[in-house]
Amino acid sequence: MKTSVTGYPRIGKDRELKFASEKFFAGGLNEDGLKEVAKSIRKEGLLKQKEAGISYISSNDFSFYDNVLDTAFLFNIIPARYKELGLSDLETYFAMARGYQADKGNVKALAMKKWFNTNYHYIVPEIDDDTKILLTGSKPLDEYLEAKEFGVETKTALIGPFTLLKLCKFTGSKKINDVSSALTKEYIKLLSSLASAGAEIIEFDEPYLVRDLDAEDIKLFLEIYGEILKDKKGLKILLQTYFGDVRDIYSELIRLDLDLIGLDLLEGRKTLDLIKAEGFPRDKILVAGLVNGKNIWRNDYKKTLDILTDLNVENVVLGTSCSLLHVPYTLESETKLDPDYKKHFAFAEEKLTELNEIASLAGSDFENSPVFKKNQELFGERKDSFDKDVKDRVEAITDSDYVRLPEFHEREKIQKEKLSLPLFPTTTIGSFPQTQDVRKNRQEFRKGLKSKEEYIGFNKKKIAECIKLQEKIGLDVLVHGEFERNDMVEYFGEHLKGFIFTEKAWVQSYGTRNVKPPIVWGDVSRKDPITVEWSVFAKSCTDKPVKGMLTGPVTILNWSFPREDITIKESILQIALAIRDEVLDLEANGINIIQIDEAALREKLPLRKSDWYSEYLDFTIPAFRLVHSKVRPETQIHTHMCYSEFTDIIPAIDAMDADVITFEASRSDLQILDSLKENNFKTEVGPGVYDIHSPRVPSVEEIVNALNKMRQKIEDSKLWVNPDCGLKTRGNEETEKSLINLVEAAKIIRG
Ligand code: GLN
Ligand code: ZN
Repeated sequence: MKTSVTGYPRIGKDRELKFASEKFFAGGLNEDGLKEVAKSIRKEGLLKQKEAGISYISSNDFSFYDNVLDTAFLFNIIPARYKELGLSDLETYFAMARGYQADKGNVKALAMKKWFNTNYHYIVPEIDDDTKILLTGSKPLDEYLEAKEFGVETKTALIGPFTLLKLCKFTGSKKINDVSSALTKEYIKLLSSLASAGAEIIEFDEPYLVRDLDAEDIKLFLEIYGEILKDKKGLKILLQTYFGDVRDIYSELIRLDLDLIGLDLLEGRKTLDLIKAEGFPRDKILVAGLVNGKNIWRNDYKKTLDILTDLNVENVVLGTSCSLLHVPYTLESETKLDPDYKKHFAFAEEKLTELNEIASLAGSDFENSPVFKKNQELFGERKDSFDKDVKDRVEAITDSDYVRLPEFHEREKIQKEKLSLPLFPTTTIGSFPQTQDVRKNRQEFRKGLKSKEEYIGFNKKKIAECIKLQEKIGLDVLVHGEFERNDMVEYFGEHLKGFIFTEKAWVQSYGTRNVKPPIVWGDVSRKDPITVEWSVFAKSCTDKPVKGMLTGPVTILNWSFPREDITIKESILQIALAIRDEVLDLEANGINIIQIDEAALREKLPLRKSDWYSEYLDFTIPAFRLVHSKVRPETQIHTHMCYSEFTDIIPAIDAMDADVITFEASRSDLQILDSLKENNFKTEVGPGVYDIHSPRVPSVEEIVNALNKMRQKIEDSKLWVNPDCGLKTRGNEETEKSLINLVEAAKIIRG
């Protein structure tokens, strides 16, 4: 059986791309230098896959920032405001991704959104009436030829035209149908150039097909592919899908003149049924996505081999369920992990081995193979994973544990009286800049180069300074700054029983930002108070209210690698109980505003609407309430969500029953505000007034304008003023300037 990999990680084994890009942004490395680093990352990935014997390896899976942006850029989908800066191609590309503020102009970045149900983010291309879709770039061709030079024959992976169009934002009067045929033509041109260069297989990634499709979507898809497949120029076409099943279009797909079809058999709950019910054509190859591209547990060979048998398809290639972009590079970098734990994991490199092993076991008398037996030994009970007390506690949860009393409006009154904040209270989302010294302090403590006293002393000094700064700026609700946290999830994971950690298991979140998710290994509980000392200290530095800062259970789970041996729901409830212990301890220690971040609440929302409640919201929203239901009425519970993309789940968000919610709004349009109004949203809101993902300092006027827009839809008594996310990735200077402008804007509005 042959094997296929949809895409390989590209940040570099030691995050080389991040460091080189940041150096480039700071002017310490030129374009050629950056491109050199990128080339060596690509080379290493390609050769790894080749050495591992993978049959179908992708090129063009690399990106300096994001593949969707690459594809837009390739086809000249570049708004004029970026072109007008007169920068080099690469700099224009980065201006679209990150915004630009320097001698040549001042523009915001394009919007950024979550890539389907992952924690990867893509840049949203904009098509306006002046967009002239044209193949102006050559990245896929260049990278195909480069791979060839390295001795690797690749399939060229492209984001397919249907998915690209569905993800674009149309800012003018033109709609998808006005540009689809122009775009299709340019894709065809690209195919010609790849064919002339000797390419054999083109992979079109069309993950959008796993969403709910309507008749118009299907028509559009069939039109586009009708054109593309009319003349394949001798190329073989692989249509690759992932993150779900293609139930709305399967019967059409198998009738197209495609050579290979890639289907996800892990997240695609219905994939197997579709294949069995409707069959799979004998003249096509099925790329069966069975090696998980999203999680890090070893593959259960028995399950996989059983599915392969069950499929009963003649031509099958074993594939990854999606790109390996979403898992870390290699277990080899993990030198500290207990071997009894380590043997249960497979990162990208180890997944290559799994692909090979399963492929060679397939169709053989595998039950007796030592490779198979060794694999099966991993699926009994795991060391240190079971905790009876935790199981009992979850068992004992009753309905009243999910309800906070008194109800919202009564609490709101009590809190207004107790806190006596001004109208339009100003606050931040929690973290302050994680400057070099802050990171060094943590690193040295971790490495044992600093005593605990020194470590704590330094952080307290930073907290005191941060409080002073916030007082000077004039903010109303202060934060301690989160200097003790590397990451909002890893930090809590480290203090909870049941999580384990890696040293270098980084995965890309957006652009140069990578995250190192913890692994939920076993049943979760809290040992001792986690944040209380920091919050209490911060409170002792000021007379103003200080917000305690926690991460919520859904986000902790969504930003970790979850267990596969118990349900997500059970894991979330375990974590909720642990965080609830912390909430109650903060309250008992005098912290009367507590923020429970659910930055990633939407992340694992099923891609199909019909599954939203039954498979997700019906247990995640109650789990959030479980965390705060037992606090006193005067304790104000805040929550924060990244991305305002919850327009369609507003009632569910309101049902979290927090007192205040802050969220991102500055990068996307303000349509969420309409939705809040329409739904009579009760929770007080702080839609971010400026974008913290970019170093640009917003002007007072800009913030006043944003606030005035918000006031048209939100009652004054419910509106908070804050940035759209934590400030940890920003520098001190821009942070101070931005917050001064923010406070000034609030004052103007109050006046
Ligand atoms: N409190 C966190 C911070 O400010 C929230 C981060 C997030 O939303 N991603 O860093
Ligand atoms: Zn955020």
